[in-house]
Amino acid sequence: MTAPTPLIAGNWKMNGLAASLDEARATAAGIGQSRARVAICPPATLIRPMRGALAGSAVLVGAQDCHPQASGAFTGDLSAEMLAEAGARLVILGHSERRAGYGETDALVAAKVHAALRGGLEPIVCVGETLDQRKAGDALGVVTGQVRGSLPPELAGRAWSVAYEPVWAIGTGLTPTTAQIEEMHRAIRATLREMFGGDGDMPPILYGGSVKPANAAEILHAAEVGGALVGGASLKAADFLGIINAL
Ligand code: PEP
Repeated sequence: MTAPTPLIAGNWKMNGLAASLDEARATAAGIGQSRARVAICPPATLIRPMRGALAGSAVLVGAQDCHPQASGAFTGDLSAEMLAEAGARLVILGHSERRAGYGETDALVAAKVHAALRGGLEPIVCVGETLDQRKAGDALGVVTGQVRGSLPPELAGRAWSVAYEPVWAIGTGLTPTTAQIEEMHRAIRATLREMFGGDGDMPPILYGGSVKPANAAEILHAAEVGGALVGGASLKAADFLGIINAL
């Protein structure tokens, strides 16, 4: 079985003005012989200019969310088709900040995955437990439940990835132990195989939550870890490169 090609994606969240494109340019310029595909997901306002800034480089540009519908009366929202036209190739869906802050359910995330595929975007689907859920011994059940609920069958044969992001590790500086990451990634892989058969081996399973240059090598080389979704440390090229080049 060939391992999936790793993906290292930066999630800029609601950070970045035009001046920040210099960090994206510096990231593209500093990537060595990485085995990974690399992406940056800036705020939607920077998708088109970032595509321009990164023209000729292998760094992909992604979005951070999309609406399930292609168009309509949804003030403030953006469809997958719009994001793809602006230059996005991937889209982060079901991030815990959206699940918690906007009440996104597994069913809504699945509808957004459907929309992403319709619009030609490669979904990165986020799952992860809260600290209370982990302390209660529910982490595996919660996460595999999110996997089952958020991934529609039409993903079979398409390009996509799952990002395991424990909520308590995002932006906190806390990270699970390598054993905890491997246990969860193995459980996610087993669930994907149950859901998709042989196609369940195709998507990389990214780890996300306080990845930084100092811990990147250990995390990226853990069993079943197929890359990383990186928040804060993707905003500065030096830090993001320290992660990318740790693989
Ligand atoms: C994220 O929000 O997807 C994330 C992983 O954030 P951080 O790396 O800052 O913990």
